[in-house]
Amino acid sequence: MSEKITIETKVLSENDRLAAEIRRTLGDKHILSLNLVSSPGSGKTSLLERTLGALGSTLRMALIAGDVQTENDANRLTKAGGNVVRPIVTGGACHLDASMVTRALAGIDLDRIDVLFIENVGNLVCPSSYDLGEDMKIVLISTTEGDDKPLKYPAMFRRSSVLVINKIDLIGLSDFDIRRAESNALAINGGLKVFEISCRRGDGLAAWYEWLIQQAAIKEAARHKPENRNECADFQGQNIPA
Ligand code: MG
Ligand code: ZN
Repeated sequence: MSEKITIETKVLSENDRLAAEIRRTLGDKHILSLNLVSSPGSGKTSLLERTLGALGSTLRMALIAGDVQTENDANRLTKAGGNVVRPIVTGGACHLDASMVTRALAGIDLDRIDVLFIENVGNLVCPSSYDLGEDMKIVLISTTEGDDKPLKYPAMFRRSSVLVINKIDLIGLSDFDIRRAESNALAINGGLKVFEISCRRGDGLAAWYEWLIQQAAIKEAARHKPENRNECADFQGQNIPA
């Protein structure tokens, strides 16, 4: 038991070290990096297809598509206009880890990229424990799932910055209650930014695109700021009340 915990701790700390390296590399290049997580079939690939179609000439996007088997999703993304698509076939592993992402990034010219999407393996459990060096995790759920998903998999919702609820065109065909799903998610993490979308019909996607462009611009803006000065010196000798 304790041996198992020790090994897991070691694996995760090595992962954290690699993730920090990825975060530094992507940060230096001002690349916005987003880790998409969900159950299988919630619409991660569909959202990326739509995004490529709408923003392909606005943002230079690279996509890493993780799956347990097949390169089907990577092929879909290439067909949707993705110029820089890298499949990761985990061959059984139920999550991506930072070493896989490091290898996938090695073949990408990062000077020609504004946004990196990492489509994780469909799984709401362990992808929450593996930092991939991303700026944000984006968790998707769809209206064909239970609206109690956030309560069942709280770690994923706690560690995500954005919640995308997909397939809102199917609302009413199941017992899924979108207000309940949102309040369940916000009870876990009140800071979640929420999008309600239908990749099939297009609802809500304009707001998603606008947010994405804005986030990429924020990341890019850091490039044009003057060097961060060490301002601690300014406070030396000042009497700062405790
Ligand atoms: Mg997929
Ligand atoms: Zn796993």
